[in-house]
Amino acid sequence: MPELESFSLDPASPADWAAVRAQGHRMLDDLFDHLSRLRERPVWQPIPPEVRAAFDEPLPSAPVALAEAHGRFMDQILPYAVGNTHPRFMGWVHGGGTVEGMLAEMLAAGLNANLGGRDQMPLEVERQTVRWMRDLFGFPATAGGLLVTGSSMANLLGVLVARTRTLGTLSRQTGVAASADGPRLVAYAAESAHGCVAQAFSISGLGTQALRRVPVGADHRLDLAALQAQITADRIAGLRPFLVVGTAGTVDTGAVDDLAAIADVARREGLWFHVDGAFGALGMLSPEVAPLLRGIERADSIALDFHKWGQVPYDAGFLLVRDQADQLAAFASPAAYLSRHPRGLAAGSPWPCDLGPDLSRGFRALKVWFTLVTHGTDRLGAAIAQSCRLAQRLRARIVAEPTLALLAPVTLNIVCFRYLGPPGARGLDAAATDHLNAELVADLHESGLAVPSTTTLGGRTAIRVALVNHRTTAADLGVLLDAVLRLGARRCRPCPAESALLVETTP
Ligand SMILES: *Cc1c(COP(=O)(O)O)cnc(C)c1O
Repeated sequence: MPELESFSLDPASPADWAAVRAQGHRMLDDLFDHLSRLRERPVWQPIPPEVRAAFDEPLPSAPVALAEAHGRFMDQILPYAVGNTHPRFMGWVHGGGTVEGMLAEMLAAGLNANLGGRDQMPLEVERQTVRWMRDLFGFPATAGGLLVTGSSMANLLGVLVARTRTLGTLSRQTGVAASADGPRLVAYAAESAHGCVAQAFSISGLGTQALRRVPVGADHRLDLAALQAQITADRIAGLRPFLVVGTAGTVDTGAVDDLAAIADVARREGLWFHVDGAFGALGMLSPEVAPLLRGIERADSIALDFHKWGQVPYDAGFLLVRDQADQLAAFASPAAYLSRHPRGLAAGSPWPCDLGPDLSRGFRALKVWFTLVTHGTDRLGAAIAQSCRLAQRLRARIVAEPTLALLAPVTLNIVCFRYLGPPGARGLDAAATDHLNAELVADLHESGLAVPSTTTLGGRTAIRVALVNHRTTAADLGVLLDAVLRLGARRCRPCPAESALLVETTP
């Protein structure tokens, strides 16, 4: 056993410190090389079985050298990630990250701050973020906010704040079941709302049946007449409407619900108005995009992600609440070991642990702060506007290409389309086209050239391109479309005009 006096996990001698420092420089250099040469790599590649198996080994009792662990990172982890830093990653809605964000993560880890509470400058960095978001969305000085993992968590917390506000703080003791005597709570969100909103109803004990799914119109936005009719019907049935969720940037098509009109309904009906702005809300940073979000400033709470259009490295979600008192009412709890004092390290209440469920919390605010100050909102807003302009450019090319069909209007940065088969070929039926497009997207992934994802719109499989990465250019869209047409034609081989298309399936 080591001596009690000398044992720690730090390097033992000045020479050991020097070795770690040199290795650290090599690790940083490798990441700079990686980020500055992303285009030379495939966006994604399948994980070889032996690489996967390398991470199925026994718990190590003896140490390996830092250099060896780093070597394994470079060889076995880095090449087989999702690839969302790559300019031709266009799948799902993933942010690209920045080099400044990466460096901030390193600084935050070195400080190893715990942002549950106490009187420390890192909390002032988070509070600065809250005030910035308060001002960006035109919220009053009473507003509160909290950095969380992502919008799934921010939406859940928004539902919990609205629930406690409606049932009263006593409901935290009596539980949701006790309110079963009173009228049952019901809430509203469009069919196009993200799955995590329904999940929030499951987790919160309200039940997913308490979330009414309101139909959308041809524009993929919440149908306001249907919303009003459902609320009226629910009141007649003796239920208690308490919350309406609007989406600023739906995950499927990027549609933005009419937030101003939903705010009107919420005011008239006395409902809490929550906005899921996971990626779209930060469109406020762009003068071109912000007008599409009109009405968001009237929300009672907003969920958003800095790790999507904000380009902050994962994870960095955020909840903004119009009145911090509602947030405190939902989450603050007394605990002897968390008692506050007017001075010393236990000063500075309220703490983040009073505003959400987490006690120990990392210093997410540092990478958010670094990203905002080192780029400024003009540049971050320009990156957001660029995504939208690229989406319009892609839309125009799809409309002009006879073998492609646009499947949804393009509002922000998401383009949904499908490949119909090579020119001159006899048409495929809808189910075969669904299959063809799903296989084609997998082909694209395996080609490493470009990574879109799929979704289902009106029952049909769509190729979905979500432009979020600040590194994506018009030339990257060209590579994507060329690959779609080339790999699509290859998959339909042989396809003489007079024969039915033969869609190959992956063996
Ligand atoms: C991404 C997304 C979410 C979920 O956010 P996470 O950060 O992945 O938890 C919720 N709603 C919308 C509209 C999204 O795009």
